[in-house]
Amino acid sequence: MSIIVIIPAAGTGTRFGGQLPKQFHPLDGKPLIQHVIERFLLDENVTRVVVPVAEMLLASVKNSERVAWVAGGETRQQSVIRGLAEAGDAELIAVHDAARPLFSSEMFHAVVAAAREVGAALPVVPVTDTIHVMNGDATVAQTIDRSMLAAAQTPQCFRAEILRDVLARAESEGITGTDEAGLAARFGYTVKAVPGDPRNLKITVAEDLAIAEAYLRQWSESS
Ligand code: C5P
Repeated sequence: MSIIVIIPAAGTGTRFGGQLPKQFHPLDGKPLIQHVIERFLLDENVTRVVVPVAEMLLASVKNSERVAWVAGGETRQQSVIRGLAEAGDAELIAVHDAARPLFSSEMFHAVVAAAREVGAALPVVPVTDTIHVMNGDATVAQTIDRSMLAAAQTPQCFRAEILRDVLARAESEGITGTDEAGLAARFGYTVKAVPGDPRNLKITVAEDLAIAEAYLRQWSESS
């Protein structure tokens, strides 16, 4: 089995604040993105990790045998497409948010197994908050039945030909998705969900870093 992992990391992280995009912030002594890359490289089936980043950062990173840095695009989807163009061949392609350093290898293996079985898979967690659709004047319009909802996480994984097809069709139809699993479902592919983990949070605001550091400490103490 061979897996290529694309880690879109070209976001500016406006909700995070500061000069440095969140994915380059130090976490337990090294940049957040480094934690993510190293966890994937532990898996011997991962032949290559491709990381789209802002063009101006390309000068400060270095390609290695299994890690390639490329220029990202205007949107997350564009960044994934640029990564895909550099990816090469593999049976499976996984896509993972740079800002999620706390996924477990077990979760990755479960997503990979499900993608091999049905073609596309992602981890999800139940939605515990009540979700309202709002009016423009900050009043509640409608309440969604949360038993129907699931919050998407990454790593998401796809048979390579499915991901290529989904992104090509999204581009040609002018559709921008916020994740690839949603696009795959939209284009008629079966997308299987495996249990996600609430600790696999997407670092979004500065306070999330302290939470991530606490989880990392917990992990290293228990392993
Ligand atoms: O904005 P959001 O947090 O949903 O971004 C998810 C991931 O996509 C982040 O890892 C971010 O760096 C990446 N991204 C990207 N290129 C963009 C915008 C976001 O690679 N133009």
